[in-house]
Amino acid sequence: MKKQWSKKDLIYLLELSQEEDIKKLFQYANKIRIQYVGKEVYYRGLIEFSNICNKDCLYCGIRKSNTKVMRYQMEKEEILREALWAYQEQYGSITLQSGEQTNSNYVKFCEDIILEINKKTKHALGITISMGEQEKEIYQKWFNAGASRYLLRIETSNELLYQKIHPQNENHSFQTRLACLRYLKDIGYQVGSGVMIGIPGQTCEDLANDLLFFEREDIDMIGMGPYIEQKDTPLYQQIEKVGYPILRDKQWRFQMSLKMIAIARILLKDVNIAATTALQALDPLGREKALKAGANVLMPIITNEEQRQKYQLYDQKPCINETAAQCKECLQRRVLSIANEIGYGKKGDSTHFLKR
Ligand code: SAM
Ligand code: SF4
Repeated sequence: MKKQWSKKDLIYLLELSQEEDIKKLFQYANKIRIQYVGKEVYYRGLIEFSNICNKDCLYCGIRKSNTKVMRYQMEKEEILREALWAYQEQYGSITLQSGEQTNSNYVKFCEDIILEINKKTKHALGITISMGEQEKEIYQKWFNAGASRYLLRIETSNELLYQKIHPQNENHSFQTRLACLRYLKDIGYQVGSGVMIGIPGQTCEDLANDLLFFEREDIDMIGMGPYIEQKDTPLYQQIEKVGYPILRDKQWRFQMSLKMIAIARILLKDVNIAATTALQALDPLGREKALKAGANVLMPIITNEEQRQKYQLYDQKPCINETAAQCKECLQRRVLSIANEIGYGKKGDSTHFLKR
C-alpha cells in the first residue's frame, strides 16, 4: 500500500542534518527511482529560442525591465536546425523555452515551429514547451500542433511568498498561474511544474507544502532547482540592501535542492524529475549528484553559443561557452561516470502520465 506522507514527515526529512542520514535518504530515493522509472536518464535538448519577455519577475535576469539584456528571437530556420541536430544525435526529445509573449505573431510563430519539427522528424521527437502563461485556446493550439508536454513552474506554492517575488499587478497573479497549470492538464499535456529553492523568506514548511502541491495537482514532471542571485534584479538588490542573512548560503540551497528531489521521488514515485542546470551553477557535480538522489532527466542546452550567453536567468550560468556538441560529450561522460544508462532515441514520457 502507498504510504501517506504527512506534512510533518516531509518537514522532518527536509530538516535532516546528519551526513549519514542524508546519504541514506538519497540512496533510498535512488532505489525508488530504479524501481518505478528505471535506470535510464532521458535527454531534453533545451533550445532557448527567445529572451524577449513581457513580464517582470523580480528574480529573473531576462525580465522586461532589465535594459542590460540584448534581446533576441531566433529565426525559424535556426530553431529547426537545432531541433534536427538533437534528433540526429538521438536526444529523443527537446524543450522549446522563451520569455513570455502573448501576441498573435508569437503564437503563430510557435505553432509553425512545432508543426515543422514534427513534420521533419515524423513525430519521433518528444516536444516539451515552456512559454509561460497563455490563454487556454493558445495552449490547445500548440497541443494540436504536436507539443505534448508543458513546463510551467509554480515557483512557490505559498501565495504570499509568490507575491513577494513578483510585481503587484494582474500580470503576475498566482491564481492565473495555477489556472494555467489546470488548463494544461485538462487539454492532455504531460504537465511539468516546480519551484525555486532558497527564495528569501521561504521555510521548510513552504517546501513541504510545495511537495504536497505537486501531489495534489497530480503533476507529471518536476523541474526544480536553487534560486540563484542575478545582480541586475530587484530581488538581488533587496538582498544586498537588507543584508545577506535573508538569503540562505549556496551550500544550504544546493543541499536543500537535492533533498527536495529525493523527497519528491519518494513521495511521487513515477514522475519524471529533472537534474536542472542551476544545480551545476552551485556545485560542479550538481547534476550527477541529483541523478544519484532520484532525478532521471537532463536538459542539455543546445542553444547556439551566441544566444545562450544572452539567456542568463541568473549569474554564473554553467555551459555558457560550450557548443551543443561539447555539452553532449561532457554530459555523456558525467552520466556514465555514475553508472546510469542514457535513453538515447527515446522520448522518455512520464510513467506517471502514461498510467493515468
Ligand atoms: N518564461 C517562462 C516561465 O517563466 O515559465 C519560461 C522561462 S523562465 C526563464 C524558466 C524558469 O527560470 C522560471 O520558471 C524560474 O523558476 C527560473 N528562474 C528565473 N530566474 C531564476 C533565478 N534567478 N534563479 C533560479 N531560477 C530562475
Ligand atoms: Fe519572463 Fe519567465 Fe523570467 Fe518571469 S521567469 S521574467 S516570465 S522569462
